[in-house]
Parts: sequence; structure tokens; C-alpha cells
Amino acid sequence: MSVWVILGPGEMPPASGGLALLAEARRLTEPAGEVTVVLAGTAVPVEASAAHGAARILVLDAADGWAGPIVAVEALTDRLRQECPEACLLSASRWGSEVAGRLAARLGAALLPGCVGLTRDGAGRLEGTRPVYGSRLVARVAATGESLQIVTLRPGSESSSPGTGHGPATAERIPCTGRPDWIRDLGEEQVPPEALDLGEADVVVAGGLGVGSRQGFALVEELAGLLGGAMGATRMAVDAGWAPFARQIGLTGRIISPRVYVACGISGSPHHMDGVRQAQLVVAINTDRHAPIFTYADVGIQGDVREVLPALIAALRRLRPEARDAAALLGGAAGMPGPLDARR
Ligand SMILES: Cc1cc2nc3c(=O)[nH]c(=O)nc-3n(C[C@H](O)[C@H](O)[C@H](O)COP(=O)(O)OP(=O)(O)OC[C@H]3O[C@@H](n4cnc5c(N)ncnc54)[C@H](O)[C@@H]3O)c2cc1C
Repeated sequence: MSVWVILGPGEMPPASGGLALLAEARRLTEPAGEVTVVLAGTAVPVEASAAHGAARILVLDAADGWAGPIVAVEALTDRLRQECPEACLLSASRWGSEVAGRLAARLGAALLPGCVGLTRDGAGRLEGTRPVYGSRLVARVAATGESLQIVTLRPGSESSSPGTGHGPATAERIPCTGRPDWIRDLGEEQVPPEALDLGEADVVVAGGLGVGSRQGFALVEELAGLLGGAMGATRMAVDAGWAPFARQIGLTGRIISPRVYVACGISGSPHHMDGVRQAQLVVAINTDRHAPIFTYADVGIQGDVREVLPALIAALRRLRPEARDAAALLGGAAGMPGPLDARR
């Protein structure tokens, strides 16, 4: 049994997304299967993948340092045809989704997109689950044939924690032929926090009535932007006209499942928290130490958002953009207090 993990830029170990996909592949191949990792570029520590259970590593040797989706698909198609692994796992990121779709079309493979979980059925076949109808229902999907299954997993949905390795991995470089000339990459722009889809966001910074004003919401938005996340709001804040209804989280708003949720001046009413239950790390900033939000919070900051938010923003501005990992900084997710750790 063989599972490939195909990692795009920003997903490669030691990035948490890549490690989680590797752990998922290891779980699916236990006890005797083999995990192959494809790294979409040369500028990555190959050893990190080996240390987390990859038996074999394929590195796409692209001229630009990393392979865009089309180049990656060109380089991998024949190899996948020859080796016929059982499944390929990719992140449901923009890169991963494009590679998955193109590979599935090229190879006539089954595509299970946007899954939040993977299991095996009684016959050992892969079965994916994915939220539908605004996350109100969970659909179970499975491939019907025997062909290769290509699965994209939403970031943060993998169930296993990164494991340790089981033997030395070998690394092989796959040369990538030039970028096909019928498409040109014109660059990427960060989606502003007020436009980033709440359901897709890895980080959500939301404001409530405690933010105090529309101007106060500019700080919520600024913090979300610095963390590469989306801006959200409570119904009270929406009713006050500080944020549009599309940003409302909760029973009558959006259901979200970010890796990190930062609640600013939010009391934590059940109607609001109904939309946040799937958040992995909850950080709360509130002046009232008895506010219900603190019973949900992994990290509680008792303080005034008008002081705490500018302090967090100033501290983040001092960091390089790639160092602004919300979970590590705010939650000490790796078990180590980060520079912004403000637990009391
Ligand atoms: C049928 C129904 C459906 C609903 N659906 C939703 C929904 O989908 N989403 C939703 O959000 N709500 C919903 N509500 C409303 C919900 O019940 C709450 O009223 C709402 O979530 C509270 O919003 P809030 O936390 O912003 O305001 P509040 O409850 O007023 O809390 C404000 C908090 O800010 C703190 N604070 C004040 N000043 C500061 C400061 N300077 N710094 C830091 N903290 C400060 C206060 O201590 C307080 O805890 C619904 C209600 C009903 C009846």
C-alpha cells in the first residue's frame, strides 16, 4: 500500500500543514505501507520529511526554485502512471487544489476534493468526509472504481499529529521541463481580511460590541491582515453597523473552522460560539474576567482591546511576514511561549 503526499510551496515541512498531511498518510499506510513525499521545490529541508515518516522523497527540480501547478503536473504524470499508488494527498490550498484537479483529469483518477477527514471502509477503501451546505451537513464520499484516488484535505482538518520517522528516506530529484508557454504567472496578492472567505480562513480575528466603534474595528481588521487571516464579527457588531452581515459568525451567520480564532471584545454567547466550535485554538481578549468567552478560550488575555490590539499589532509589525504564525505566536502551539504570548 502506497500513499503519496504532494506538497506545494508553503506546505513543506517544517510547515504544520505539510507535517499534518504526512501524519495522515502514515496513519493510512500503517502498518506496512509506504509514504512517498513530493516536494514541489528545491528550497526545502528534505530531512524534515524523512524525520516525519516519508520512506521516499521526490524533489521537483524546477528552474524557478519551485514548481507551479502546471509544471508539477507535467513532471508527475508519467511517474504516477508507472507507480500506481493507492492515493495522493494534497492540501486543499490553491496550489494543491489545482494540481489535484489537473492530475485527476490527466490520469482519469477519482478526485475527492475539500475533505476534512479520511477513513477506510470495511473493504479497506478510502472514504472522505466533507462539509456541505455551509457546513451544516457532512457528506461521505468514496471512489467507486479501483483507480488512483486523489484527495485534497482542508488545512487543519487532519486528525493525526506528526509522527517520528521509520527509517532513512531517499531523496530523488525529478527534472522539470520548462513552464508551458500557454500560461504565465502574474504573481499573487494577499486577499484583504474583509474579503477573505470566513469558511476557508486559517486564522479569523473577530470583533464584538466591546470593540466599541467602527474605528475600533479597523484594529481588528489590521490584526487579521497581519496574520494573513479573515475579519469576523458578532451579530451585535453587525447590528451596530461596524461590519457587514457577510462577516457575522454564529447561529445565524457563518460556521467557521479556523486553526486560530481571536475573539476581541466578544462575550461568548452560545449563539455566537455555535459558529466557532470547530476552531482549534481560541484566543480571547476581554476586560471582564468572568466573560463566558474565557471558558472556551485556550489563551485568555484580560485587557482592553484598545490597548491589547495596538500592542499585538506593533509586535507583529516587528516580525518578518513569514514569522507571523498566529498559532505559534499567540498560543505557543508548539508548547513554547512565543513573543506575543500574553497568558495570565
Ligand atoms: C435567535 C438568535 C440568533 C443569534 N445569532 C447570533 C449569531 O449568529 N452570531 C452572534 O454573534 N450573535 C447572535 N445572536 C446574538 C447573541 O445572543 C449575543 O447577543 C451576541 O453574540 C453578543 O455579541 P457581543 O459578544 O459582541 O456583545 P456583548 O455580549 O455585549 O459582549 C461584549 C463583550 O465585550 C467586552 N468588552 C467591553 N469593552 C471591552 C474592551 N474595551 N475591551 C475588551 N473587551 C471589552 C465585555 O466585557 C463583553 O464581554 C443571536 C441571538 C438570537 C436571539
